[in-house]
Amino acid sequence: MPLGKKRIQALYGILHQRARPHRYTLWRWGVGIVFTAGIAALAWSDTLRFDFWRGRHMWLGQQVGLSEGLRKFAFPFLALNVAIIVVTRFCGFVCPVGTLGRLGEWARHAERKRRQRIFGPLLSLGVCLLLAAITFSFWVDPLVFVEGSARAVLWSSALLAALSGGLFVIVQGLGLRFCRELCPSGIYFAVLGHDSRSGIEFAHPDACSDCGLCNRVCPMDLEPRAMSGGAHREARGLYPDGLSNFANCIRCGDCIVACEVGSTEDEATALRFGPLPVHARDARAPVKEP
Ligand code: SF4
Ligand code: SF4
Repeated sequence: MPLGKKRIQALYGILHQRARPHRYTLWRWGVGIVFTAGIAALAWSDTLRFDFWRGRHMWLGQQVGLSEGLRKFAFPFLALNVAIIVVTRFCGFVCPVGTLGRLGEWARHAERKRRQRIFGPLLSLGVCLLLAAITFSFWVDPLVFVEGSARAVLWSSALLAALSGGLFVIVQGLGLRFCRELCPSGIYFAVLGHDSRSGIEFAHPDACSDCGLCNRVCPMDLEPRAMSGGAHREARGLYPDGLSNFANCIRCGDCIVACEVGSTEDEATALRFGPLPVHARDARAPVKEP
């Protein structure tokens, strides 16, 4: 059985046992919506835009030249990357493509109800269109559709259609396999981000029943219990060989959701998710085998 199907069946089997949505489901949608709205607001408020239609490049509401705009954008962008790498790697919650990948896997693999078969892909397509429109508005002023020539409108429509269509094909065809094997940002953060201060800790081994659910639901095909031990994963897609489980982890928390199944609210779960204590960080093996 493909990993996506096996994973979704295990995860949704777990989630269906709950009377209300898991807190990570709510956090995932909340953070995703706020983050995506924040990115959209940057372009729509003229805080940041490189306009390749009529050259009105914007930075903090001021029109600037292309090279000046790139220079001003570079420092905050690099600072944000360093912060993500050093402090955390929350792409499992923040990244809109990851959220879309989940949606795609759910639409393909969860229970095959008729309503879901129709509604799932439609919802995916709607979100793909929205993300494509946000990406588009960073590079072309949306006013092109009102003030642009017929040729500009045609090119802009084609670009928007290609962006949405490409995203939809990736999401429906690959789901989270994109994150597991092909995501360029994931590889970048995996190679540079193994010193992150937060992640999964096998904090209470005594509470582990060895049910194996954490391994089955992991979208990155990792061993969450071996995270602090520094176990390595073989090369996968564009990801190079020798990266540790810790470097590949996208901090989605699905293993914690699985681990909570067998414990009551008062009990500590075997796995813990959050800032890592120093001993857990020290226990991490170097990324490359000696
Ligand atoms: S180890 Fe846990 S948090 Fe990390 S990717 Fe796998 S399921 Fe998500
Ligand atoms: S889900 Fe929790 S209890 Fe089950 S194997 Fe993983 S760590 Fe142990």
